Amino acid sequence: MGERTIDQTAAHIAEAIREGRTSAYSVTEAFLDRIDAVDGTVKAFLHVDREGALATAAEVDAAIAAGEELGPLAGVPIAIKDVVVTKDMPTTAASKILEGWIPPYDATITERVKAAKMPILGKTNLDEFAMGSSTEYSAYRQTANPWDTGRIPGGSGGGSAAAVAAKMAPLAIGTDTGGSIRQPGAVTGTFGAKPTYGSNSRYGLIAFSSSLDTPGPVARNALDAALLHEVISGHDPRDSTTIDAPVPPVVEAARSGASGDLSGVKLGVVKEFAEGSAAAEPGVVEAYQAGVDQLVKLGAQIVEVSCPSFTYALPTYYLIAPSEASSNLARYDGVRYGLRAGDDGKRSLEEVMSLTREAGFGPEVKRRIILGTYALSAGYVDQFYGQAQKVRTLIKRDFEAAFGECDALISPTTPFIAFKFGERTGDPYQMYLADLYTIPTNLYGGPGVSVPVGLSEGMPVGLQVMGPVMGDDITYRVAAALESTQETLLADTAPEIEGK
Ligand code: GLN
Repeated sequence: MGERTIDQTAAHIAEAIREGRTSAYSVTEAFLDRIDAVDGTVKAFLHVDREGALATAAEVDAAIAAGEELGPLAGVPIAIKDVVVTKDMPTTAASKILEGWIPPYDATITERVKAAKMPILGKTNLDEFAMGSSTEYSAYRQTANPWDTGRIPGGSGGGSAAAVAAKMAPLAIGTDTGGSIRQPGAVTGTFGAKPTYGSNSRYGLIAFSSSLDTPGPVARNALDAALLHEVISGHDPRDSTTIDAPVPPVVEAARSGASGDLSGVKLGVVKEFAEGSAAAEPGVVEAYQAGVDQLVKLGAQIVEVSCPSFTYALPTYYLIAPSEASSNLARYDGVRYGLRAGDDGKRSLEEVMSLTREAGFGPEVKRRIILGTYALSAGYVDQFYGQAQKVRTLIKRDFEAAFGECDALISPTTPFIAFKFGERTGDPYQMYLADLYTIPTNLYGGPGVSVPVGLSEGMPVGLQVMGPVMGDDITYRVAAALESTQETLLADTAPEIEGK
C-alpha cells in the first residue's frame, strides 16, 4: 500500500475519514487532482464535476464534525458510467443523439450513491449505448488502457474500469448486459461484479437490453466492490423486475474469503469453454490455470461440468440483445430528447426523425437496430427471436444442473488480453468474441465477478466466478480468497501513467 491517498482501497479511505485521520474534502481533492494530471492521457471521463464532488465531501466532513452516524462509504469518491442518469449532470450514453441532455431526475443507483454521501467525481466513457467491448464505439473519445495506452480498456464500461485502474477513482459504477463490467475489469486488472439480475434497480439506466442490463460495482478488490454492492442493491418499487428479498451478504463473504479458506467449496470448470474455437489464448490459459492451482491450495475442489448449450450463448445473445435494443432505442426520435437534425420547418416529422437518427446514432448502434428489427419482424420472429428465447431456457437449465454439482463455476473472464486500438473494429464478430465467457451468465440471470489473476504479455488477465441466482456471496468469497494469495493487488502493480 503506497503513501498517497489515491493508492488506498475504498475500505481504508472510508475508515480514515470516519476516524478523522483525513477529511472527505482532501480525499476528493486528491482524486480530482489525479484526474487533472492523467485523464488527458487516459480519457476515461466524459464529464468531471469538481464543484459538486467537493460540495458533497464538505457535507460529509461537517456531518462527521457534528457527530452524525454515516454509511460505510461516506466521503469515498465515485465515478459513474455515463449510461446511468444523474440529475442536473450531463448524461449522454456516449451517443451524439443525447448530446447536451441534462436529466431532470436521478437513477435509483445514483440516488443510493448520493444517500450514501459518496462524492460523484463525474461520468465515465463507454461504447455508445453500452454496445461494444472496447469503448472504441464512443461518439466522443477513445479511452486508453492505463497498462498500455496503445490498447483498449475493454468495453462497454472501459471508462469506469480505466478510471479505477489509473487511480482516478477508488470506485465506479458500471453496467453489464453481456460482460461490460467483467470484461473491462479483466483487461485493466480491476475487480468487476455483475450482480444477480433484478437485485439492482434499472430505474434511470439508459436501456439497452432490459432483460439483461444489470448495474454493478467496479473496484480494486473484492471487499471494496462488496461494500459498494451493498450500498446500491436491493428492491426498488420503481423497477418491477427487482427482487424483493434481502441482498446477499457480500461484505461478510468478501471478509470471510480473505481468510483464505475454501475447504468444502466445489468449483465447476465448464468443459465446453476450453474446446475448439471457444478456447482462450495460451497466455490467458496459463495465468488462469495458475489461479486455479491457488484455489486448490486453499482447499477448493475442482469438478468438470458440461454445459452444452453455452456453445450457442453468443448467437443467442446477439438476437435477444439487439431485439430489445431496437425497441428501447425507438424513443430517440428527435422530439423528446437531445439531438434534432434537419428541422427547417418544412420537413415532415418522419424526415426529421430519420435525419436525426442518421446523424445521432453511430455504426454499431445502427447495426444492432437493423439486426433487432429484422429478428422481430413478422414472418421471422419465431425463427430468430423465438428460437433464441428457447435456447436461453436451455442455457438456464445448464446452469441449474451445474449448480447441482458445484457451488460456483470458474473460467477465464475473457479469451484474450486487451487488444490494440483498431484491431477488432473492422469485424463485428471479432469484437463480439470478447464476451464469449461472460454472456452465458447474463442470459441465465445469475451473478458473476472478475478478479485479477495475473499477467500475460505484461497485460492483466481476469478469472471469472459465476454463482447461482442470488448466490452473489459465494462469488465474492472465492474471489477474495484468490486475492489473499497475491502479495500485492494486481491493480497496485500497474505501470505509472505519464500525465499530459
Ligand atoms: N460487449 C457486449 C455487447 O456489445 C456486451 C455489452 C454490455 O455488457 N453492455 O453487447
